[in-house]
Amino acid sequence: MKYEIVTYGKSVLREKAQPIEDITADIRKLADDMLETMYASNGVGLAAQQIGLEIAICVVDVPPAQDRRPETGERENPDVEMPLVLLNPVIIESTSSHRSEEGCLSIPDIVAPIKRAKEVTVEFLDLNGARRSIRAKGLLARAVQHELDHLNGMLVVDRMSLVKKAAISGKLKKMKKEAQ
Ligand SMILES: [Zn+2]
Repeated sequence: MKYEIVTYGKSVLREKAQPIEDITADIRKLADDMLETMYASNGVGLAAQQIGLEIAICVVDVPPAQDRRPETGERENPDVEMPLVLLNPVIIESTSSHRSEEGCLSIPDIVAPIKRAKEVTVEFLDLNGARRSIRAKGLLARAVQHELDHLNGMLVVDRMSLVKKAAISGKLKKMKKEAQ
């Protein structure tokens, strides 16, 4: 089932996710539906708040063509099996950061340079209840940090420069108004 994506201005995007205690059939179905919704929107990640739920689950899938270092064309994360379904994810280690253009399915048609760690180690439960950790690099690292922000009620607008935020303030106000 494909969900409608919640857009900027809706209060659920500002809620913190509750940890998942039991991995039920409903959670597995939800993971499938979130992936379907993400693919239909051409996104590389989606968090529960973006479909109106306040629980700690997000999905990420960076296609092989986008999982490449721009300078060399080498794969960034050849050993990470995608798609990823992350339950109760936590970043336990991160490296120095850099800025790169980033967008969000909940804030359509807006991209801005956002500072993110180049690599992160994220710990999470998989759908079998196994505790796992992965080292993510490049776009995957960026997507993981973006989705974990959503689970904490944070959005890219909170990480934009004040200049950029001022430049798009009209669009944001309009979205907020439409959300009411
Ligand atoms: Zn987003």
